[in-house]
Amino acid sequence: MSTTSAILPPCEPYKIKMIESLHRSTREERDRWIREARYNIFNLRSDQVFIDLLTDSGTGAMSDRQWGAIMTGDESYAGSRSFFELKETINDLLGYEHVLPTHQGRAAENVLFSVLVKEGQTVPGNAHFDTTKGHIEFRKAEAIDCTVAAAYDTTVSHPFKGNVDLNKLEAYMREASESVSFILITATCNTAGGQPVSMENIREVRKIADRYNKLLVIDAARFAENAWFIRNREKEFRNHTIRQIVGEMFSYFDAATMSSKKDGIVNIGGFIAMKDKELYRQASLFNIMFEGFLTYGGQAGRDMAALAVGLREATELEYLDSRIGQVNYLGEKLKTYGVPVQEPFGGHAVFIDALRFLPQIPREEYPGQTLVVEIYKEAGIRCAEIGTLMADRDPHTRENRYTALELVRLAIPRRTYTSDHMDYVAAALGNVFQRVSEIRKGYRLTWEAPIMRHFTMELEAISE
Ligand SMILES: *Cc1c(COP(=O)(O)O)cnc(C)c1O
Repeated sequence: MSTTSAILPPCEPYKIKMIESLHRSTREERDRWIREARYNIFNLRSDQVFIDLLTDSGTGAMSDRQWGAIMTGDESYAGSRSFFELKETINDLLGYEHVLPTHQGRAAENVLFSVLVKEGQTVPGNAHFDTTKGHIEFRKAEAIDCTVAAAYDTTVSHPFKGNVDLNKLEAYMREASESVSFILITATCNTAGGQPVSMENIREVRKIADRYNKLLVIDAARFAENAWFIRNREKEFRNHTIRQIVGEMFSYFDAATMSSKKDGIVNIGGFIAMKDKELYRQASLFNIMFEGFLTYGGQAGRDMAALAVGLREATELEYLDSRIGQVNYLGEKLKTYGVPVQEPFGGHAVFIDALRFLPQIPREEYPGQTLVVEIYKEAGIRCAEIGTLMADRDPHTRENRYTALELVRLAIPRRTYTSDHMDYVAAALGNVFQRVSEIRKGYRLTWEAPIMRHFTMELEAISE
């Protein structure tokens, strides 16, 4: 018998202990449900959905160890042991001393920006996430997108499409540094397609921040996935552990906002972590007002306990190989059906280029949303438009902001679906792609909120 083994295929480093049943529906049911939902996918009930790829946020499967931590969580109002477990984990992984728990990521933004962002100021960085932009614009400040141009061409291959364009940022700082509140890097960059930011880029942005004496903040929702890309795509880090990379990444920032619903692998939660005690003191005031006392901040003790475990699990290489491997698997499968996808694939989702998929639908009829509706009708798969509807109107002109990219996002929840599910999704999109010439009309808005309209908007089908 040979002792050398042949190469084995990738495989999930876990098995299933508990299952949750799913039910398929008929095409007639889905046509009715989506019409009743005013063609807004957020209005569907979850049992009208077969495979839910709306988001990877809070939809992951917790491990047996996380569920174990739930049972031993400490629900003390002040000084909860579970808070200290979380704080020590964050101290250890990210290297920041001060931690404020919040009920989710946007709450962390709300608290931190209450200290940092004043009317008329700006926050440059790579592409801001929608709630981040919302919290900036809500304060009558402006988010300045300095992402590299490669991010806006889905056909260009670039290892770090989440990078900040250093020339753009430098030019902006030269012009307008007095108005800059702080510089923000979102890693991975959700809005640009879950694309990573390189360590080299982070180092260079740090230098710019230092030159202009500005704080550098990380929107850290997918920090572990970003670290995995750094390990795989930046030579210098090939033999580093994920935790070493995470430690170095965070060393260049002054503070972090976190949505624990992503790389914390919990269903709800968030936090702010920071180096400076004075900033912590100022943010504490808003945390107590908006979120709760400093040692729970809108979370149950058990949730903080599960998060402490989840953060450690999310920074294991085996887990990340399987996690990002599954996204890659779906992306490759879609390509075999000819579906136009963004490449390279991001960390948490595969993005479909709706402008290439549905070139016959004009931008004013929302090709991204049109495709979202078709995918739902085809197979009960729920996904999200990341395009014009999500980008809201320009706050000054109230015109639609036609984004450079009109994407449809298939977000993959962590540890939740199997490769069979991925095969089903790919086949369904393949079917839609085959009958694409039958799709001739898009949608028009009949109601929208002034900000973050995609969550609650109502649409109607434009008839031929
Ligand atoms: C999800 C997310 C947020 C907001 O977090 P919530 O927990 O949904 O409030 C902020 N930034 C990024 C990059 C995100 O992905």
